[in-house]
Amino acid sequence: MAGNAKIITCPCGFILHGGDDEEVVAAAQSHAREIHAQSLSRDQALAMARPAG
Ligand SMILES: [Zn+2]
Repeated sequence: MAGNAKIITCPCGFILHGGDDEEVVAAAQSHAREIHAQSLSRDQALAMARPAG
């Protein structure tokens, strides 16, 4: 089944999953803010996103 699921691997090794671009971007932004105290732009997050599976 084709989907738009994406993953982003954080430089710290944590893997963020999302059902689509918006979800994975939101997950990465939340992770960056909570774990790294950094803000991540949508463009930065999308640049790191890869198709899942
Ligand atoms: Zn991280």
